[in-house]
Formats: sequence, C-alpha cells, structure tokens
Amino acid sequence: MNAHPAVAIDESAARMTDWTVAQDGPGVGALPLIRVENLQRHFVMGDQTVRALDGLSVTIGAGEFLAIMGPSGSGKSTLLYLLGGLDRPTEGSIRVNGTEISTLDENALATYRRREIGFIFQSFHLVPTMTALQNVAFPMVFSGVPEKERHGRASDLLGHVGLADRMHHKPTELSGGQQQRIAVARALVNNPTIVLADEPTGNLDSQTGGEIMELLRRLNREEGRTILTVSHDPRVTDYATRAIHLLDGRLAA
Ligand code: ADP
Ligand code: MG
Repeated sequence: MNAHPAVAIDESAARMTDWTVAQDGPGVGALPLIRVENLQRHFVMGDQTVRALDGLSVTIGAGEFLAIMGPSGSGKSTLLYLLGGLDRPTEGSIRVNGTEISTLDENALATYRRREIGFIFQSFHLVPTMTALQNVAFPMVFSGVPEKERHGRASDLLGHVGLADRMHHKPTELSGGQQQRIAVARALVNNPTIVLADEPTGNLDSQTGGEIMELLRRLNREEGRTILTVSHDPRVTDYATRAIHLLDGRLAA
C-alpha cells in the first residue's frame, strides 16, 4: 500500500501528459478532451466496500486511441461506464470538453450519452430479431432522425465497416467478427466525439480480434475519432497511440 497515494497519482498523471505531447500521431498537441480527477467509485456489498475506482486521475487528449489495460477487477469497465455516463462516481470529477458530467441531471446525462458517446461491448449487444441494418439504424430513432435518413446512414456505415453485402442478415447468421462490425457501425451513428469499447475483441479469435482493432485504428487515424479501448490483451497496445495501466482502481506505478 502506498502511503501517499495522491502524490503518486499526481506524478503519474503529469508523466503521461508529457508522454502524450512527445508522441507522434493524432494525439499530438491535442487539447485535453477528458479530464478525470481523483475518481472514486465504491460499491457497498453488505458490510464490505469495494473500491472499484480509488482515486484515479488521467487526462485524455482529443484524437487519442487510448488502451486501458489491467487485470480483471482493476476497474476498467467501471471507468468506461463512468466516462460514458452510464454510472455516477462516488467522488471526484469527470470533465469532458469542459463540462462536468458527474453532476448532470438524468436528462442532460442522456443527451450527453446520445450526442457524445458510442459504446462497443464484448458481447456485441445486438438485437437478435433485427437485421444488421435495423440494428444500426435503431439508435437514431431516439435522436429523431427520419426513417429514410436512418436507413441511408446505417447502410453507409455498414459499407464503411465492410458489411455492405450483409445488411439484411440477422446477427445469428453472421460470424462473431461480423457481429462486432455491426456494433462498431452502430456506435458511430450519432457521430460521437468519443468511442468507448469494453474488451471489444474478448469474444473473438485472435485474427478476427486483430481485424476489429485494425478497424478501430482506421476510425482513429482517418476520422480523428477519440477511442478508448479496455483490454487485458497486450496486443491491443500495438494499435493504440497510448496505454494506461490500472491496478486496484488507480493508475499502476
Ligand atoms: P474490470 O473491468 O477491470 O475487470 P470492473 O470495473 O468490472 O473491473 O470491477 C472492478 C471491481 O469493482 C471488481 O472488484 C468488481 O467486482 C467490482 N464491481 C464492479 N461493478 C460492481 C457492482 N455493480 N457491484 C459491486 N461490485 C462491483
Ligand atoms: Mg471489465
């Protein structure tokens, strides 16, 4: 146990900022897009408190492709859910583009999720009764996009992820890699500022997983999308512009 955790966290945060500035690639000179300070998320389980996040501070620039690494239980998913506005911190600050999202009311948080965030999950989370096209078009219903435009945009995005010839297939008729491509297309429908991916290759064989990472890298490089990917697979760092490592809910030293 570190006797001065706050000091250690501040130092590593400062180091990482320097590192970012020194790197080549889309992160260069980027303005801070996400500022996380002393983030805490505690879960009370009976008489025990699990500190899923325990004083995490990190700054993420616009245009980064960040790999969030760490062993199972280190707080990676918890961090992603907080950044995506799917959960609220126990303590600490999350500023995105200058807005403190931890104190937004439910409506404002829903708007934040819809406008700024695209989510990709390990198990795809597609609707099994809908075709690829319907799955991708579906989130646009909540943004009030007219049906014709929904289908047009969904079909463009499916072409973009290499599924032009599979639009009318249902998820069960497609491979895992193809299903995850649908999920990637769906994450992009509202043109999000930030794409959050929680173990996106966890259910895929290594070659298919590599293809999905390659697709994410393309979205980062060619479209400048800020992408945060959680993984415990070290190969993910080959694709990312930077990696951070979590341990027990903080940055590992
Ligand atoms: P990771 O994604 O790195 O595997 P998580 O963020 O899912 O880790 O979890 C971090 C810790 O918080 C774990 O000990 C986990 O059991 C605990 N945790 C996560 N979500 C909850 C929850 N809803 N209720 C209780 N404990 C939770
Ligand atoms: Mg997880």
